Amino acid sequence: MTDLALNAYLQRSKERILATLTDWLRIPSISADPNHAGDVAASAEFCARLLREAGMTTVEILATGTAQAPGSGRPAVYAEWLGAGPDAPTVLIYGHHDVQPVDPLAEWTSPPFEPVVVGDELLARGSADDKGQVLMQIEAARGVRAERGRLPINLKFLIEGEEEVGSPHLEDLLWREKERLAADIVVVSDTTMEAPDVPSTTVSMRGLVSFDVTLRTARSDLHSGIWGGTVPNAALVAARLVDRLHDADGRVTLPGFYDDVRELTPQEAASLAAIPFDEAEFRRQAGVAYLEGEASRSPFERVGARPTAEVVGLHSGYGGPGIKTIVPATASFKVAFRLVPDQRPERVGPAFREWLASHVPDGAQFEATPEGSVSPLLTPVDHPAMRILCSAIERVWGAAPLFSRGGGSGPEEALARVLGAPLIFLGVALPDDNFHAPNEHLDLRQLWRGVLAAGELVLDLASYKVGA
Ligand SMILES: [Zn+2]
Repeated sequence: MTDLALNAYLQRSKERILATLTDWLRIPSISADPNHAGDVAASAEFCARLLREAGMTTVEILATGTAQAPGSGRPAVYAEWLGAGPDAPTVLIYGHHDVQPVDPLAEWTSPPFEPVVVGDELLARGSADDKGQVLMQIEAARGVRAERGRLPINLKFLIEGEEEVGSPHLEDLLWREKERLAADIVVVSDTTMEAPDVPSTTVSMRGLVSFDVTLRTARSDLHSGIWGGTVPNAALVAARLVDRLHDADGRVTLPGFYDDVRELTPQEAASLAAIPFDEAEFRRQAGVAYLEGEASRSPFERVGARPTAEVVGLHSGYGGPGIKTIVPATASFKVAFRLVPDQRPERVGPAFREWLASHVPDGAQFEATPEGSVSPLLTPVDHPAMRILCSAIERVWGAAPLFSRGGGSGPEEALARVLGAPLIFLGVALPDDNFHAPNEHLDLRQLWRGVLAAGELVLDLASYKVGA
């Protein structure tokens, strides 16, 4: 590691970086809770100050909201340094400064907004997701400027304040600020690596399309002693529908559902297979006794590279104390389909509606209300930007990164689509850092390596051929 550009910078800055992160983590920037709106704003100001100190020439807080209520959202922070000139690549770093709520508070071993270092771990809400990883990028820029006097690329930052509530205003913001945010590559630092000694990079995120389905089989609930055995039961209709969403092999039964699924390349399949997997530990972490899902696909494939149909809620009839002798007239359920490249919400959504129409019994009424959709994202493992990223990671961790598939759905697809740029992930958190859970923590050794890797990346991206 001796020849890494930011080694000396990091050695003399560790204490300051840790103190800065600790101060930032004291701000409870919970975007889900309106009572913390002021804290999210304070966190944005804090972040803006860090970007100014890192030498960014333009730093601005960007209000977010709807056309009807501008400013009703939580603020993002924008910063830029464009001193490398028009011929150099422009890189946009994305991260977020808001955090998840902290409940259940009783499960925290120390207060979530009073950061403490325990061994090599910094324990606080937001340490890994995502303030630590945002600071890692800011420090890399600051370090390269300190060591080299300038950056070899034009650098922009977009640090969002609403990621933890589903980025409701991000796409609007991206369209509104499209020109200013224009970049040749987007780098996201908001993901994990498989293990400290198994460096990896995420190459994809799943899409999402979801529905709220309501059913009605009669005008009102009916007496089961008078009508039961003759009339349709809405609870049973819903249960049958939900059951028919999958076949005996765990495959989703919508016609054509798998038509657009892109199979893993041999290189990706080999990479996924190389990620250590301990099924007993996986089950223990999830708190389940056995695994389900698509037969003949490994758990890593099922989570990141295969689509799913998840029934996220199912309600009908009487749920109060004791029993009520009725035949329920209404039922409802919610389904969320996770999509993988190259599936499209605009194809899967209508396919589900058609499937429903053909499976709901004649005469039963149903309605399917869409509950939002996101497209999947994939950066090919042989993309030139990916090769530059992998080289930077390998020099710091001493091993080439494996390629992992992200199972979740985030703002990355909108970033890549609106800005028309490839997107790569430099994520250094670890799977057991307790994202969104009590006792979130950040492994400081990963943070320090992350600063070094982000520094290498800033320098290496200078060689990126725009339009590649
Ligand atoms: Zn995050």
